[in-house]
Amino acid sequence: MNIRANHLPTAEIQALDAAHHLHPFTDGDLINKRGARVITSAQGVMIRDSEGNEILDGMSGLWCCNIGHGRRELADAAHAQMLQLSYYNTFFMTTHPPVVSLAEKIAELAPAHMNHVFFASGGSEANDTNIRLVRHYWAAQGKPDKKVIISRKNAYHGSTMGGASLGGMSGMHAQGGLPIPDIVHIDQPHWWAEGGDMDPAEFGRMRARKLEEKIAELGEDRVAAFIAEPIQGAGGVIIPPETYWPEIGRICRDHEILLIADEVITGFGRTGNMFAAETFDITPDIMTIAKGLSSGYAPIGGSIVSDHVSEVLNANGDFNHGYTYSGHPVASAVALENLRIIVEEGLVERVQTEIGPYLAERWGSLADHPMVGEAPICGMMGSIALTPEKSSRARFASEEGVVGLRCREICFQNNLVMRHVGDRMVIAPPLVITKGEVDLLVERAWQALDATLKGLKDDGMFTAG
Ligand SMILES: *Cc1c(COP(=O)(O)O)cnc(C)c1O
Repeated sequence: MNIRANHLPTAEIQALDAAHHLHPFTDGDLINKRGARVITSAQGVMIRDSEGNEILDGMSGLWCCNIGHGRRELADAAHAQMLQLSYYNTFFMTTHPPVVSLAEKIAELAPAHMNHVFFASGGSEANDTNIRLVRHYWAAQGKPDKKVIISRKNAYHGSTMGGASLGGMSGMHAQGGLPIPDIVHIDQPHWWAEGGDMDPAEFGRMRARKLEEKIAELGEDRVAAFIAEPIQGAGGVIIPPETYWPEIGRICRDHEILLIADEVITGFGRTGNMFAAETFDITPDIMTIAKGLSSGYAPIGGSIVSDHVSEVLNANGDFNHGYTYSGHPVASAVALENLRIIVEEGLVERVQTEIGPYLAERWGSLADHPMVGEAPICGMMGSIALTPEKSSRARFASEEGVVGLRCREICFQNNLVMRHVGDRMVIAPPLVITKGEVDLLVERAWQALDATLKGLKDDGMFTAG
C-alpha cells in the first residue's frame, strides 16, 4: 500500500499529524503537544495502536462497526465493485445495480410502511436532507409556513449546519452561528439528571408533553416535524422512560406532525431489533440511517421514507437536492454485503436473545461500584452515571466532564475504549462481541472505575457539588 506513514515510528507519525492534520471534536493545541494516539489495525472487537497495544473497542469505532473490524467479505465487495463500476451518479434519470439492490434490501428490513430510501454519505447529510424534505413535503401541499422542526436539548443529529442545528449541543451552537432559523428545542427525557423527585414514568410523560406544549405555542400549522433519537447516543446513552415514546407518537398523530426517528446509531441491530422503532413501538415517517448501515466500512447514510411521504414527493416535480455520492456504487456494494452478514449470521437475534442479555447482566453489575449511580443498557448500547453520592444522584463538585475525562484516559491506558459524555461513561461494542470479550470489557471497566475513584480520593475530589 502506498501509505508512507505505515512504515514510520510513532513519533514521526504524530509529528506529521500535528503538522498537517486538523481533527474533528479535538483541542488542536492539546493533541499536537501530547501526540495523537495512532491506530494502525483492527480485527473483530480489538484495535491495535502503533505501539502494539491490543485495545478492546467498546465503542465500535464511533458507534458504527456493528459486524466488527476487518471482515474480508466487505473488502472483496469493494474490490469487485470498483472494477465493475467505480463511480456513477444517480442524478438526472440514471441509476445503477448496487444502489437499486441496497434500496430494495433496506426496504425489506425497514417497517412495512417504509419502502423508499434517499441516500447520503453519512448521518449529518441525511438529516440535512430531512430538513429540506419535510419542508418541501408541506410546501408541496400548500403549507409553506409549516416548516419549524422541533428537536431536543442534548440531542445529536450531526455536524453540518443543518445537523448541528437539529442537535441540541450548546457547545456546537456556540460556534458558527447556529441554530439556523425555524429549529427549536425542547427538554430531553433524561430522568437521572433532570427527573428530581418525580417517578420515571410520570417524568417520561411530562417530557413528552413538552412537545405538545411547544406545538401549541408555535401553532400546529407552523410545525413540520419532530426529530429524535430513540435512545440518545452522543448525549450519553439516555434510554427514555417507557412512557415517553407512546406519548410522543400520540402527539405527532394528533397534531399532524411528521416524526423523524434518527436511527443512525440504533439502526441495524444495536437495540436487539433491526431498528429501535420496533424496540420502542415507534411509527416514524422518516428514519435517518448511517453508521451500522455499512458498519463503517464505507461512508454511506440515508433517509428511509414512508410510502405516504414518498408519494407526495414523487407527485411534485423535481426535488432539487442531492449529493455527488448519493448512492455511491462502492459504498452501496459494501453496505449490501454488511447487511447480508447481519442477516445471515443472525446478529440481531444474537443481540436480542444471547449476547445482549449477557452484556446487560454483566454491565448491570457495575451499578454495585461505589462511584456508579446507574448502569442502564439496551441491546448493545449502555452507560453508567458517575456520582459521588448514589442516593441523591449528586453531581461532582468539579466541572461537569472532569471526572468522566479522567475515567476515559484511565480506560485507554487499561486497553479499553469507553467514551465519556460529561460524567457519564458510554459503551456500544460490536454486535459480534463474545461472552469472554464482554467479561474482559466489564473487568477492565471495573478496574478503571477503581483507579478513577482512588485518584479522586487522593486529590480530594470525591465530593458532591
Ligand atoms: C453520528 C450521528 C449522526 C451523524 O452522522 P455522520 O455520519 O457523522 O454525519 C447523526 N445522528 C446520530 C444519532 C448520530 O449518532
